[in-house]
Amino acid sequence: MRDTELLDRIAGLARGFLETLPHRPVGARADLPSLRTALGGALPAAGADATAVIEHLAAAADPGLVASAGPRYFGFVIGGSLPAALAADWLAAAWDQDAGLYACGPAAAVVEEVAAAWLLDLFGLPPAASVGFVTGGQMANFTGLAAGRHAVLQRAGWGVEEDGLIGAPPVNVVVGDEAHLTILTSLRMLGLGSRRVVPVAADGQGCMRPDELHSTLARLDGPTIVCAQVGNVNTGAFDPVGEIADIVHERGGWVHVDGAFGLWAATSPELRHLVRGVDRADSWATDGHKWLNVPYDCGIAIVRDAAAHKTAMTGRASYLVQSSGAERDPQDWTPECSRRARGFTVYAALKSLGRDGVTALVERCCRLARRMADRLAAAPGVRILNEVVLNQVLVRFEPAGAARGDAFTKAVVARVQREGTCWMAGSRWHGMDAMRISVSNWSTTEADIDRSAEAILAAARAEATGST
Ligand SMILES: *Cc1c(COP(=O)(O)O)cnc(C)c1O
Repeated sequence: MRDTELLDRIAGLARGFLETLPHRPVGARADLPSLRTALGGALPAAGADATAVIEHLAAAADPGLVASAGPRYFGFVIGGSLPAALAADWLAAAWDQDAGLYACGPAAAVVEEVAAAWLLDLFGLPPAASVGFVTGGQMANFTGLAAGRHAVLQRAGWGVEEDGLIGAPPVNVVVGDEAHLTILTSLRMLGLGSRRVVPVAADGQGCMRPDELHSTLARLDGPTIVCAQVGNVNTGAFDPVGEIADIVHERGGWVHVDGAFGLWAATSPELRHLVRGVDRADSWATDGHKWLNVPYDCGIAIVRDAAAHKTAMTGRASYLVQSSGAERDPQDWTPECSRRARGFTVYAALKSLGRDGVTALVERCCRLARRMADRLAAAPGVRILNEVVLNQVLVRFEPAGAARGDAFTKAVVARVQREGTCWMAGSRWHGMDAMRISVSNWSTTEADIDRSAEAILAAARAEATGST
């Protein structure tokens, strides 16, 4: 089969899958041994027809696919794919640009420039800030913290890019008690260590307490980075970044904000108050593959001081045809050298939604999360553990009293996952097991919420009566 015919066939396979999304069981159906059997075997010596390979792959993988792109997947914080973003992703693969250098993909570089300006505008961040399109929140945190490491050590007279950390002035890294694990892994990769961090106590919703930060900083001396968070993975809660930034800047420190999904609150007039002062930070990390609903993978690193960002990330080599200044070399802003042209999906998603569409997407998910919380809370023995300020809901099931809540909640989560109407994972919050619901998909409707709430409550009733 010729390439073009294969692509038409693939379009059919992809369409077939997408059509099953609203109906198929949300969790994967196949177990590990059956997937290994269906997909495994020795590498054949002789090649095979591309169409046959793809058709086999599609059929064998299908039972092991999770409908996380569909409307009733509420696990972790995972978005779907907007139609325009998915289409742009197909083109990005067909075009196969190496978006490391302008010279390798001028259109990819310019699309990044345009999408970067749109994002800064949407988030209300400084228009001169620099933006790197990375693989996810993990690398966005890494990039922002690398820029911060550069800046605070430069102020102390140390060039960390050339001289490393051995013999450098010690850097204090202060994190909220509820920091995401990717902050700690980023610090590990940056040579700052995950155990050396100075924790700051959080309040009941998981927000860093400014009074605690103030007294923590008073005990510290020297270069300092403070990691704040907007959008706690459990509660959706927001650190008071404006207040934090004022406290940290008074002492010459750097404020990095992990806003993997929470930063998107800045795009809504209704929700913007939650991120008040976020523009006073120094670096920000967010995701495209969560709330913007572009396909995996896409993260976004933003830094106020573009020079610090570039110095921390760029590499120079005599054999590379690098920009002399006018053009954007995307690799100057990311840890990756050769890289996928990630800007295309972001560009297409933003343009297809428009400013109002982004706001509507974010506000709709929050409204649906509220609706889910209200539906569940109306049933006896169900407790919502968080203030539902954003798109995250923490639920606990205690029909037989608080003491048996942990085991019962875990059992309800497992039952819901097996039943297949919707899917979400468990979590721990303040020493209690909980069901964690995240509404992040562009295609979720009120009917999806109502149907899912019914399935969850039915699972809880079945668990209570011990039926199978
Ligand atoms: C998801 C998440 C991350 C990590 O992002 P990835 O895209 O999974 O790398 C970091 N911080 C927060 C708050 C998150 O929700």
